[in-house]
Amino acid sequence: MRVAVITDVHANRHALDAVLADVDAEEVDAVWCLGDTVGYGPQPNECCDLVRERSDVCLAGNHDLVALGELTVSDFNEEAAAAAVWTNEVLAPNAEAFLRTLSPTGEPNGAELFHASARDPIWEYILTEEAAKATLDLTTAPLVLVGHSHVALALTLEDGTVAGGVAKAGTEIQLDRRWLLNPGSVGQPRDGDPRAAWLLVDADRRIASFRRVAYAIDETQSEMRAAGLPSALAARLDRGE
Ligand code: ZN
Repeated sequence: MRVAVITDVHANRHALDAVLADVDAEEVDAVWCLGDTVGYGPQPNECCDLVRERSDVCLAGNHDLVALGELTVSDFNEEAAAAAVWTNEVLAPNAEAFLRTLSPTGEPNGAELFHASARDPIWEYILTEEAAKATLDLTTAPLVLVGHSHVALALTLEDGTVAGGVAKAGTEIQLDRRWLLNPGSVGQPRDGDPRAAWLLVDADRRIASFRRVAYAIDETQSEMRAAGLPSALAARLDRGE
């Protein structure tokens, strides 16, 4: 079985289109999405439609839940809050209905999926060894997948200590031990590589490979400006941070 794992699309249609074209070339058996389909970006409805059509499993992220009004914007910084208010206003009924069906955790095919972490599936960023170890200790699946930080990561335990780190484009790991993987973000990468990120998990060959694909960043940025979204959110897409 070959699975494409995507996460943190953040209403960036051009990034999502580029990733799905790359996914199609790999002839995968399933697409799993780890949440935050909306928030920050200019095309939430189109991204919800595409993710609903294309994904076999989809989680809810913190931005999805804020856009639905199920969580408040008080935990967001000013720009994220402004984008969440805008998203809430433009969200179409069918997109809202789709997001309301989602949960922040999932267990497809013996893997454990969380939008953020096992300790806090909605909010906790796995960006420290302590947070990574807590999630590996709270789970038993050979493969644990998270999103939320927008940083592509491949982490494992060696003699009880967290090993691994940031997974650059083209990184391939052998699935011969337990792994905690974050594909990186489709629509708003924060690991210094502005290209859209996704992860190919090949269970038969026991390999996971970290992919990046270029997309028309300037088109997303001009749509963000036209929508009146905060300019800093558009500017960060160039830097991948
Ligand atoms: Zn996110």
